[in-house]
Amino acid sequence: MNFLEERIIKDGIVKEGNVLKVDSFLNHQMDIALIEEIGREFKRRFADKNVTKVLTIEASGIGIAAFVAKEFGVPMVFAKKSKSLNIAGEMYEAEVESFTHKNKNKVIVSKRFLNENDRLLIIDDFLANGCALQGLISIAQEAGAKIEGLGIVIEKGFQYGGQAIRNMGYQLESLAIVESMDAEKGTIVFREQ
Ligand code: 5GP
Repeated sequence: MNFLEERIIKDGIVKEGNVLKVDSFLNHQMDIALIEEIGREFKRRFADKNVTKVLTIEASGIGIAAFVAKEFGVPMVFAKKSKSLNIAGEMYEAEVESFTHKNKNKVIVSKRFLNENDRLLIIDDFLANGCALQGLISIAQEAGAKIEGLGIVIEKGFQYGGQAIRNMGYQLESLAIVESMDAEKGTIVFREQ
């Protein structure tokens, strides 16, 4: 087991509805030493990539992506959830369905911060059905930026997002892949990587 899998076993809580709660260390209260280690691990896995920017989505991707960006020495940009209209065409936008809240959000990134010269590392906390990543991929494509890879802290391997993204030909690195989990017994099984 790696450092993250050990922490998930120690402090993660399996909820009904295929939800893994990690809010005591990852996406509500944050263990900064752990997030720092996550940043270093993504740097190691994408060391051969010439990343110019890290792209994520608010809210819980931000803290993680910040540490990844620091490792690469590049800026981090996060897609914002927005209700305002894009009248002047100043924004790239995509529609993202939230796995946890079951609602749809329009997410936007200003055209000032992404363009065809960018080589992106896309980061998020969880990968379930892949809607968040698909939204970020579509924004990157609209900008004409190159996607160097995608990094996920926790992938739920029993949901279809990971397979769909890998089938698109991208290098997707997930630090922990949950193969199965049981809310009643509280058990979590990881995929061997
Ligand atoms: P997807 O778009 O891949 O279906 O879901 C990914 C997004 O939903 C992530 O940004 C994350 O915030 C949220 N999410 C999905 N599954 C879980 C989960 O099991 N636990 C938590 N805490 N968030 C999740």
